[in-house]
Amino acid sequence: MDANFIWLLLPVAALSGWLAARRSYKKQHRIGGGERPQQGYFKGLNYILNEQPDKAIEVFVEMVQVDSETVETHLALGNLFRKRGEVDRAIRIHQNLIARPTLNVDQRANALAELGQDYMSAGLLDRAENIFSELMENSQYKALALRSLKDIYQSEQEWDNAIKVLRRTTELSRNERNRIIAQYYCELAVQARENNDMSLVKRHLKQAIGVDPQCARASFLQGEQEWESGNVKNALRCYDRFISQSPQLSDEVIERVYDCHQQLGSTNKFLGDLGHLSDSEVGPLTRRLGLRLHTSANDEEGYRDAVYASLEKHPTLSLTESWLELLSDSKKDDPQGDLHKLLAVITRLAEQNEGYRCQHCGYVAKSLHWLCPSCKHWDSTRPINTLDG
Ligand SMILES: [Zn+2]
Repeated sequence: MDANFIWLLLPVAALSGWLAARRSYKKQHRIGGGERPQQGYFKGLNYILNEQPDKAIEVFVEMVQVDSETVETHLALGNLFRKRGEVDRAIRIHQNLIARPTLNVDQRANALAELGQDYMSAGLLDRAENIFSELMENSQYKALALRSLKDIYQSEQEWDNAIKVLRRTTELSRNERNRIIAQYYCELAVQARENNDMSLVKRHLKQAIGVDPQCARASFLQGEQEWESGNVKNALRCYDRFISQSPQLSDEVIERVYDCHQQLGSTNKFLGDLGHLSDSEVGPLTRRLGLRLHTSANDEEGYRDAVYASLEKHPTLSLTESWLELLSDSKKDDPQGDLHKLLAVITRLAEQNEGYRCQHCGYVAKSLHWLCPSCKHWDSTRPINTLDG
């Protein structure tokens, strides 16, 4: 929502509070007692209209009369401050509400939920965690609490806790939940690997595949672990599974896969496997390697023709660059250097297409992120040159 528009809503919220307070005051006045709360609301409203929010907060915080009718106004004011990015002010309003002994159970839970969100916005994650842990048992705020705790544990890299809360959430489908839990197990495996605890790495990767057999990252990490342990055959099995699960990321492992086949003496099988991969799905390195290996070692002309034939079927900038390189190497008669000029331009364009982009939010990064740093989606970034050529 537009910040200026929210600012316009503040007096409306205050005025509704004043009306509620006046009704409440009339009721109290009839039974004899109470202060004149509408004066406080008028004062607060004046400060808001004069754009003096701190003085307005002072008035609202010191207001004696906070009951079931006026509590909504305090909540609305606090939320508006948070939405304007004025989190400190929102916290003050909500903390003041919670301190009131007159709040009923529902009102207190409501104020706590708002304060928890204030703390999240302010980056005070420990405080937010305490509040949402309490609200997890409240049926009305359980979904918000679990979602917030998941975000907290994810950003604090407390993966065990993240798994626990995600298992309890009902907001996501079972498949979606398992897909994320598998990523958490992969994170635990990466942590275990940093601590050189290889049996724990194995266990966590098994757990990842247990909850999501299609988890490409777990296949990749298993491949790495098997390769480092010298189990080339097992490593190859894991890498092959990784490519079949996530062909767009084939370039991450294709050279290692080739190494495995060479060690096992099965390069013919490698050639067969490469032939089964779709040009439009795999990365440029995988594509070039396939074309290279399918032509005889010294047959440069044959390789160049194969690259062009592939380019005709599925054109990409990266492969165009490769073809132009081969062409300019073979041409002796280019007196104006036109081919080199064209190659230089295509190379620059291809360089702009390097890196990875999140398919969910469009965030671009130099390296592969399993968790998008921008939108926090898992396994959503892919090489740009695979997506756009
Ligand atoms: Zn993203």
